[in-house]
Amino acid sequence: SITVEAINHVLATQYPTLQSSGHLDGRLKLPQTLAKLTPEHRMAILEFNTTQPGEMQAMIDAIQPQVGVVTNLRLAYTDRFENPDQFAKETALMIEKLPPDGLAVLSYDDDQVREMAIRAAARVLTVGLEGFGADLIAYNIVVGTTRTGFDLRYGDERFVGRWTPLLGKHRLYSILTAVAVGVHYEIAPTEALRALTEMQPLPGRMNPLNGNGGSLLIDDSFSADPQSTLAALEWLQAVTEGSQQRAIFVLGNMDNLGGFTQRGHRMVGQRASEFVDMFITEGTDAALAGRAALDQDMEPRKVAITYSIQDVLNQLQATSKITSDDIILVKGGPSARMELVSQALLADPADERQLPRNAQLTEASSFLRPTHPSWVEIDLAALARNVRAIKDLTGPEITLIAVVKADAYGHGAVAVARTALLNGAAYLAVSSINEALELREAGIEAPILIVNYVPVQAMRQVVRQNLTVTLYDLELARAYNRAAREAGGVLKSHVKIDTGMGRLGVMAGEAVAFFRHLLNLNNIEIEGIYTHFSTADDDLDHANEQLRVFKSVVTPLRASGYNFKYIHAANTAAMLTLPASHFNAVRVGLGMYGLSPSAKARLPEAFTPALTWKTMIAQVKTLPPGHPVGYGNTYRTATQERIAVLPVGYANGFRRSPHHWGKVLVQGEFAPIIGRISMEKLVINVSQIPEVAIGDEVVLLGRQGNARITADDIADRLGTISYEVLTTILPRVPRR
Ligand SMILES: *Cc1c(COP(=O)(O)O)cnc(C)c1O
Repeated sequence: SITVEAINHVLATQYPTLQSSGHLDGRLKLPQTLAKLTPEHRMAILEFNTTQPGEMQAMIDAIQPQVGVVTNLRLAYTDRFENPDQFAKETALMIEKLPPDGLAVLSYDDDQVREMAIRAAARVLTVGLEGFGADLIAYNIVVGTTRTGFDLRYGDERFVGRWTPLLGKHRLYSILTAVAVGVHYEIAPTEALRALTEMQPLPGRMNPLNGNGGSLLIDDSFSADPQSTLAALEWLQAVTEGSQQRAIFVLGNMDNLGGFTQRGHRMVGQRASEFVDMFITEGTDAALAGRAALDQDMEPRKVAITYSIQDVLNQLQATSKITSDDIILVKGGPSARMELVSQALLADPADERQLPRNAQLTEASSFLRPTHPSWVEIDLAALARNVRAIKDLTGPEITLIAVVKADAYGHGAVAVARTALLNGAAYLAVSSINEALELREAGIEAPILIVNYVPVQAMRQVVRQNLTVTLYDLELARAYNRAAREAGGVLKSHVKIDTGMGRLGVMAGEAVAFFRHLLNLNNIEIEGIYTHFSTADDDLDHANEQLRVFKSVVTPLRASGYNFKYIHAANTAAMLTLPASHFNAVRVGLGMYGLSPSAKARLPEAFTPALTWKTMIAQVKTLPPGHPVGYGNTYRTATQERIAVLPVGYANGFRRSPHHWGKVLVQGEFAPIIGRISMEKLVINVSQIPEVAIGDEVVLLGRQGNARITADDIADRLGTISYEVLTTILPRVPRR
């Protein structure tokens, strides 16, 4: 968008122009811009950004451009492209299809872009920084905090001592490109450069603003990909290096990176670790950048990994006073909404007009609206707080084993595991090998205990991925041992004792003999011992008896020389009700998600539920008295009733029988469900709620306004427990 703006600045000196505008992406941006085309316009400068294969050809067919410009290829590409090459080919199409009397402007410094010249029928001009070879070159570059200076060479001509208010060396590509396009339309470089000197930074694109305490705030919150972020960091390093200035870098998630998410964020984190004085991340993906910085041995006190805008601000305040020696760079993708961080840091609140997405708040939020009719939102900031609250309850010495089985109780295992590990958990627990592998594939290296049966056939993967299994049967343990030996490794294990639950585990009376036999299995390492309570949320007598039995097993084993690294028994309920059961580790699931196991085992105030299930209204209409609703006509309207149809049903995990959830939330009010639940639909009565419309957000589980429907409310209605309510929201409902 900066390049479009720069070209427009130059062409507008001679011609009436129309330039690309609007918030839509991909080819949809064209009609959004062209709707503003009038007969007076002589030139239109349009952004051709492709979000999926085939889109470039469609745009070329529709527009048939005369001039094509490629400044760089994004390192990242959307999920819709198979790989970066496919994306590059798609982009190159624009250059190939230019007419012979047209112009291609290409970056000389990017190999892939420069090589597009080979297939161009049009005249080609290349632009480059420093070095030789390009047709237009910027050199003697001076990177400053308020402007960028440079000399320009075009053929034999030299234009010295030029500058632009745009910040960062990378912006010079836009400047050179605009000069090149000007040349094609017979606008002299001097004239073009004069126009470009007046071009101000756009909101959210390296826009310098007056920050708190006299600091310099660089708002770069409009969008982010690894390339633009690395370029912004290069500028930050150049202006702070060897000076008193402190470099503060606030990074939100860079979105739409698809398969490049992990690597892209890590690259940025590594770069930040080289010079940044304070690095604050916000969100799960940005956390990867924070992690990468720590992995590069950046001092932990200089890195803060957070999950909410508020935590970013808290962190900035906690670290140290912001002064005129600080330069704060704020960057993130559109959904990270990092302009809200910038807003809070402004010295003059009136400057908020200069922030992106400010005038278009409604447009931006509708743009970010989910495309699926029903979705689950996870509040990772709440989850992070819950994890820290657990650590506060148990004390720092106790290892927190975060239980993320069943897709983290329906919350999404990878995001939850990452959040838990960054906030104090040190071990993860899952139920099966495939759950463990999902975490490993996401790059999570923490130890993982599988608390359920693992087939012997999986042993090779278990060993290779350094997973921990549960032992409870001698024959199975012997088979594991053989398989581990064949795989050429040592299997890590925890032994589970059945102390009175009657489920998985070695009977307490047989434990000593079991351990004696295990001694002979050389490819098995015993890292821990554990048991599980059946009544810690209710009957503490039985739980105490289980605890006594467990100790009667552990104590003699330790006396005879077993040195368990982990001894654990407590689930959420026991963590709350039975402090004596903490040993040196606790296995917590439900509490982490912000729910209490029972009325007798309540979480303290500090905990909040992290999951909200939402849908949207599909239709609103008025039915006459006596009209049936849904399959089987089980409901008939008593009077004239306004009803709304919701696009969600039992195929999403919304229970049909023998009882359904009873009610949902619309506009902060309860609306009763009427008739039967269908596979993908249900109907509610909204007679009492005015102004209900298609597309309105509906909360099935969670809070809306001051009202809420908790997992416990639903569990009471359905005759079950909150655990089942959470885990039966089907995986096909997307988590975000
Ligand atoms: C599920 C599970 C837990 C966690 O229980 P919560 O009540 O959710 O804290 C702990 N240990 C084992 C063995 C489990 O299967």
